[in-house]
Amino acid sequence: MSKHVNVLEMARQQLAVAAFHLDLDEGLHAVLARPKTQMVVNFPVVLDNGQVQCFEGFRVQHNASRGPTKGGIRFHHDVDLDETTALAMWMTWKCAVVNIPYGGAKGSVRINTKKYSKRELEKVTRRFTSEISSMVGERSDIPAPDIGTNAQVMAWVMDTYSMIRGYTTPGVVTGKPIALGGSEGRNEATGRGVIVAAHEATKRVGLDFANSTVVVQGFGNVGSVAAMLAEEAGAKVIGISDARGAIFNPNGLPIKELYHRYSGRDGGIQEYKDCDRITNAELLALDCDILIPSAIAAQITGENAHAVKAKLIVEGANGPTTPEADQILDDRGILAVPDILANAGGVVVSYFEWVQDLQNFFWEEGEVNNKLERIMRNAYKAVEATMDEHKVGMRTAAHIIGVKRVADATITRGIFP
Ligand code: NAD
Repeated sequence: MSKHVNVLEMARQQLAVAAFHLDLDEGLHAVLARPKTQMVVNFPVVLDNGQVQCFEGFRVQHNASRGPTKGGIRFHHDVDLDETTALAMWMTWKCAVVNIPYGGAKGSVRINTKKYSKRELEKVTRRFTSEISSMVGERSDIPAPDIGTNAQVMAWVMDTYSMIRGYTTPGVVTGKPIALGGSEGRNEATGRGVIVAAHEATKRVGLDFANSTVVVQGFGNVGSVAAMLAEEAGAKVIGISDARGAIFNPNGLPIKELYHRYSGRDGGIQEYKDCDRITNAELLALDCDILIPSAIAAQITGENAHAVKAKLIVEGANGPTTPEADQILDDRGILAVPDILANAGGVVVSYFEWVQDLQNFFWEEGEVNNKLERIMRNAYKAVEATMDEHKVGMRTAAHIIGVKRVADATITRGIFP
C-alpha cells in the first residue's frame, strides 16, 4: 500500500458521499463514521530459536446493527489500526449490500509471514486468538481468512477458541477446512463472485466476457481463482502478478498450469518462462478489457489512474482504488465495480458456512455456488438500478444501498438506553 494514502480517510470520504445522497442525519453519520469497538493487543511468542518476540495485533468491530460482526484476519507486515478500521467499515457496507445479517469487523497482526516457520505462525495465531477471545464468538464476531491467512490458520483459531470455551465451536470462524465444518465452495467463493460481477458488468460496457482480455493483480486466493474462472469462461488472461512482480503474454497465460505448477514454488509465477517480466505499474497500465486488482489497497491512485487502459475494473481486493482515482476513471468512462459488491462472494459463502455450522447440516457444492451466484446477481442488479436512479457512479450506488440498510436498522432498533 502506498503509505501516503490513508485508507480510513478514503472509507470515510466514501461514506460522506453516500450520506449526502441519503440526506443522512448528522448524528447518525457521525456514528457510522466510527468503529463500535477497537482492540489493540501486544503479545509475546517464543520463536523456534528460543527468543521471545512481541507482536502487535488489532480487532475492530465497526457496526453490529444488522447482526453479529464478520470480517477476516490479515497477517501482513504493513497493517495498522486505521487500515483495520477502514476494512471493518467496508465489511459493514458489504454485508448490507448483499443483504446478509452481519455487521462489519476486521482483525490483523503485523507480521511478515515469510520470515516465520509453520510452528511459529501457529503460536502467533493461537496467542492472538486468545488475546481477542473476549470479542470473537459464534454469536458476536466471526473471523475469516484474508491476506496472509488461510484455512489452516482458521482451524487454529477455531481450536484455540474451542479450548477456551471447553467445547467445539465451528461457528466461531469461517473459511475452515471442510473436515472441520468448512463449506464446500468457500475457498473459491470470492473469486467466483468477482467473475459473476464481471460477467454482469461486461453487459453494461458492451463487452463479451468470453472474448475479453483480462489482467489480474495478485495471485493469491482471490486473484488465482478469478483468473482460473476467467480462463475457464474463455477469456484470455494476459497478465498476472504477485508481490514479487508481474508477468505478461499478449497471447494469454496458461493460468491453471501457473497455479498448479508454479504458485507453490519458491520463485512462484516468476519461474514461468514463456512471458515477459513487467513491473506492477506496467501491469496496471496494460491494454486489456478487464482489470481485476486482487492484492492490496490503494493500487490505482491519482498518479496512475490516467494510465489505466482497461474498459472495466472489477475490484477483487479491498480498497484498491482511491477516491481521486475514482474521479479520474469516472471522467474517462471506465466502469469500476466496487469492492463492497465485487468481492462480497467470500462473505456470502462464509455466511453459508456459519449457517451450516450452527445447524450441523451441510450442503453440496452445487447448491452453495447456485445460491452464491443468485445473491451476487441480485445485488449487482440492485446497485445498477441505484446508479441509474441517483445518477451516481457504481461505488456511490453500492454505498447508498449499504449505508441505507445499516442506517435503517440502527434507527429501527433505537439508541440504547
Ligand atoms: P492472499 O494472501 O491469498 O493473496 C494476496 C496476493 O497479492 C498474493 O499473490 C501476493 O503475492 C499479492 N501481493 C501482495 N502485495 C502485492 C503487491 N504490492 N503487488 C502485487 N501483488 C501483491 O490474499 P487474498 O485472500 O487473495 O486477498 C487479496 C485481496 O482480496 C485483499 O485485499 C483482501 O482483503 C481481499 N479479499 C479477500 C477475500 C477472501 O475471501 N480471501 C474476500 C474479500 C476480499
